[in-house]
Amino acid sequence: MGKIVILDEKTANQIAAGEVIERPASVVKEMAENAIDAGADQITIEIRNGGISYIRVSDNGHGMEADDVELAFERHATSKIRRIEDLEGLSSMGFRGEALASIASVSKLEVITKTEEAHTGTSLLMEGGRVVSVKQTGCPKGTTFIVRDLFYNTPARYKFLKKDSTEAGYVADIIERLALAHPHISFKFIQNNQPRLHTPGNNDLLSVIYSIYGKDIARAVLPVNYKSGGYSVSGFIGRPEIARGNRTWQSVFLNGRYIKNRAISASVEEACKTILMQKKFPFYVLILTAPPESFDVNVHPQKLEVRFSEENQVCSVVYHGVKSALTGASLIRDFEKPGTTGTHRQEKEENSSTSVKESIAIAKEPAKDSAGEERPAGIMQEYNVDVRSFPYKAAFNDKENHNENVKGDNAGLTGIGFRGQSYTGQSITETGLTDARLKGESLKDTQINFDDTVAGSDTGVTSRDTSLTQLKAAQIVGQAFDTYILMQYGETLFIIDQHAAHERIRYENLKKRLSTSENYSQGMLEPLIVKLSAREFDFAMEKQSTFSKLGFEMEAFGHNTIIVRSVPDLYDGGFGVPDFLDILDRWMKTNTEGAVISDEILYLMSCKGALKANKALSKEEISGLVESLCEMENPWTCVHGRPVIIKMSQKDLEKKFKRIV
Ligand code: ADP
Ligand code: MG
Repeated sequence: MGKIVILDEKTANQIAAGEVIERPASVVKEMAENAIDAGADQITIEIRNGGISYIRVSDNGHGMEADDVELAFERHATSKIRRIEDLEGLSSMGFRGEALASIASVSKLEVITKTEEAHTGTSLLMEGGRVVSVKQTGCPKGTTFIVRDLFYNTPARYKFLKKDSTEAGYVADIIERLALAHPHISFKFIQNNQPRLHTPGNNDLLSVIYSIYGKDIARAVLPVNYKSGGYSVSGFIGRPEIARGNRTWQSVFLNGRYIKNRAISASVEEACKTILMQKKFPFYVLILTAPPESFDVNVHPQKLEVRFSEENQVCSVVYHGVKSALTGASLIRDFEKPGTTGTHRQEKEENSSTSVKESIAIAKEPAKDSAGEERPAGIMQEYNVDVRSFPYKAAFNDKENHNENVKGDNAGLTGIGFRGQSYTGQSITETGLTDARLKGESLKDTQINFDDTVAGSDTGVTSRDTSLTQLKAAQIVGQAFDTYILMQYGETLFIIDQHAAHERIRYENLKKRLSTSENYSQGMLEPLIVKLSAREFDFAMEKQSTFSKLGFEMEAFGHNTIIVRSVPDLYDGGFGVPDFLDILDRWMKTNTEGAVISDEILYLMSCKGALKANKALSKEEISGLVESLCEMENPWTCVHGRPVIIKMSQKDLEKKFKRIV
C-alpha cells in the first residue's frame, strides 16, 4: 500500500495556522484587520495574559449574515474576492480567507455577530476547529470574536510563546500601528482590565500620536507634506530633542499598511543629517501613497517588507518631504522643556506598578453609577480607569471633566440594546458584549481638549522665518562665561553656544566652497613641511585638487614629504602640522570610492579652529556671528547635532522665581 494520504482538514488548518498565526499578536492583527474591512469605526481589543488565555476583538462593522458565519471558518472562505482578477484594485486588508480557519483550529473561539438588517444575531462556539454550537442571539450590529486558550491543542507552538508581558507588548505594537494607519477609527485596547490605549477616531493623525506617545511627543513633531510623480508623503517627523537611541519610534505606512523598507529609513536619516546627534534616530510617522503597480508587498508573509520598482523616486520624495519639514520650522529648543526628558511611554511604564495598586484600591470601594446605584463588579473593574495611566489624562481639562467621561460610559451601559435578553452584568463582561455601550458613548462626542496641548501657540511649528527674524532683531544682552551669547527679543531670551554656532557657519561655508571655483586660501608665513608614510603621501597627492578647492595649496617636497604653502582662510593662524595630519588621517579612514570628500572631513575642518568656548567677544563680533548664523540653511544645530540656540521665555523665568505659578 502506498504511503501518501491527504491530510484531514483539521490537520491542514493547523499547519496553515503555523504560517499565519504565530502568537496572540497575529490573532489580534487578523481580527482587527477583518474589523477594518467590515467598515468598523470603533474597534475594541481586550486581552488577558498577553492574549494567551483571552483575546476579544469587538467591532461595529457590517457583521455577518447567519448563513455566512460558519462558512467564514472554512479555509479559503472570503467575501473579499471571487477570482484572481479581483486582486487588482483590492483595497481590503485581507483576502486569502485563511485567518479565521487557522485561528479556530488552534483555539476555543466564540463569535457573536449581527448585520444591520437582521433581527437577531448569531452566536457560534468552536473548539479546535469543530463547531460546538450555533445559536440565535440578541446583540448589536457588528462582530465580537473571543479567542480563548490559544494553542491549547498544539503544545509545540504553545511552547514558543514568550512571557505574558512580552506577548502583550507585541499586541500593543500591532494596535498602535493599526491606529496610526487608521486615524478615522477609534481603537480601544484593554489589557488585564486596564485601559492601555484609546484613540479618538477623529481622523486626525496628531491625535493618534498624542494618544500613543503622549503630549510631549505630540508637541514636538513637525508636519510633513510632499508630493511628486505619483508618490506622496505626509505625517510627522519629530524635532531633534525627541530623537531616541534606537529606531523603535519609526513607522512608515504605505497605502494604509505598516511597512518596513531600509531605503526609506535611510532617506529620512539622510534628511536629518547634522540635525541629530550621532547614534540618535528620529521619531517619525510617515504616510506614503504610491500607485499600486509601483510596489510589491508579497515578498514577506507578514507583508512588512516592500519592494519598489522606482525606489529612488520614492526615497527622493521622502527625503524632500522630511527635509523641508525640518528646514521650514524653527528648531530652537526650549530651555528645560519636556520632550528632552522622560517620554510618555516610559512614564507609563514607570508608573504602571503604582497605577495597578491604585486601581485595586479604587476597585475595593463600591462604584456608583450616575444614578447612584452600585454597578456589578464585573463591569466596574473595566471602568475603574486609572487617570494616571490613561493616555488621555492630560487632554482632560481637569478631574471633573474626566469624571464626566466615566459617567458617559455608564450612560452607555444603561442603553445597551439587548432586546429583552437576560444578561447579568457578569455574563456581559464574560462575552465581552460590554462593548455595546459604545453605541451610546462615542469618543467622538467626548470633549477632548487639544487646545492647550498640541495646538497651542508654542508648538513645534514656529516657522523658521519667525525665529530668524526675531533673532536678527534681538538685542545683545551680553556673554555668559565667555561661552554663551545672550540675546533678548520681546519676551524671549535666546542663548547661543558661540562655538557650536561658529562650527555650523564654517561647515556650511566649506560645503559651498566645494561647489565654486573661488580661491579661499591664505598664504602661510612659514609653510608646513609634512613628512608622511608612502600611503599617506599617495592619498594626499591623489586628493590634491580637492585639497586646493578647500584652500590648501600643497605640493610634493621630496621623498614622501609635502609642503603646505597656504591653508583655508578660516584658520586665522595657529594651524600646524598635527592639524593637517588629523585631517589627512580622518579623510583616509572615511574615504569612500568615488566620493569627492566625506562629510566627516568637513565636520572636522569646521570644528578645528572654530571660535572656542572661553573667549570673550566684542559686541561687533557677536552681531557678526549672529548675522552669519541667520544666513545658514540649518542654524539650529552644530555639525554633530548639538543645539546651537536654546530659548527661554520670560514666563518660564518668572515661573522659576515663583513670581507666577
Ligand atoms: P479574509 O479576511 O482573507 O477574507 P478571514 O479568514 O480573515 O479571511 O475572514 C473570512 C471572512 O469572514 C471574511 O472574508 C469576512 O467575510 C468574514 N469576516 C471575518 N471577520 C469579520 C468581521 N469582523 N466582520 C464582518 N465579517 C467578517
Ligand atoms: Mg482576514
